[in-house]
Amino acid sequence: MPIYEYEHDAAGGCAERFEAFQAMADRPFEKCPKCGAACHRVVSSFSVQGGGKAGLLSRSNLEAHGFSQFTRKGKGYYEKTAGAGPKAISDGR
Ligand SMILES: [Zn+2]
Repeated sequence: MPIYEYEHDAAGGCAERFEAFQAMADRPFEKCPKCGAACHRVVSSFSVQGGGKAGLLSRSNLEAHGFSQFTRKGKGYYEKTAGAGPKAISDGR
């Protein structure tokens, strides 16, 4: 199960931040289970890189990390949409 990090909405409360094991499908806590103060989930730094799924697969991000991206344009035919390499590849059939 992933660990989620929580922060109190306002200063005060029992601690500034706490962590909780939760399933992905679980609703996030709205109140601190210890002191009852309002809290909110904060996104851990490791999951913010690239700004989410769309960002990770964006052309600029792919190229920045040296990836090439090919998009299927037909049966066995792929056209390059990002990065280095041939303009198009096909499996020769
Ligand atoms: Zn608290």
